[in-house]
Amino acid sequence: MSMKVFDLQCSHGHVFEGWFRGAQAYEEQRDRGLLTCPVCADTNVERKISAARLNMGRGLAPESGQPPAQQHASRPNESEVATLTGMQAKWLAHLQEVVKRAENVGDQFASEARKMHKGETEERSIRGTATEKEKRELAEEGVNVLPLPDFLDDSQRH
Ligand SMILES: [Zn+2]
Repeated sequence: MSMKVFDLQCSHGHVFEGWFRGAQAYEEQRDRGLLTCPVCADTNVERKISAARLNMGRGLAPESGQPPAQQHASRPNESEVATLTGMQAKWLAHLQEVVKRAENVGDQFASEARKMHKGETEERSIRGTATEKEKRELAEEGVNVLPLPDFLDDSQRH
C-alpha cells in the first residue's frame, strides 16, 4: 500500500504530517471531520499552504530578546518544526502500540465501550467499528473513544 504524506496544519498553527492513500482520501477524511491535530485535537485541519504561513503561537516561540541574526521572518524556525514532527512520530508510535495490543471487537465496539464505561466489564484497550450514530451516542454518554487513522485500522480488512 503506498501512502501519500501531506503537511497539515490546524487552526492553532500546529503543523504535522498526515498519511493518506491519496489526495482524494485526504479530502474525504477532511470533509467528514476525521482529521484531528495530534497536539491539540483540533478538527479544523487543512493542508499547509506554505511554510511562510507557519505560526507556532506564543507557547512555542523562541525566547524573546535575542533573535538569531540569520533568522528570516519569512522562514519557519526549523527546530520548532522538528520538535512537532518528533511529537507526531512519538504519538504515532504510541498509537500503533495501542492498536497492536487492543482487542479487536469488530462491530461490538460501541456496546463494549459502553459496558467498560459503566464498569460492567473489564477495563482494557479495544478497537473496532462503530456507525456514525453509535459514535454520536457514545459521545453524548461521555464515553471517550479515539478515532483511528485510516491506515492504522485493519479491523475492516479480512
Ligand atoms: Zn493543533
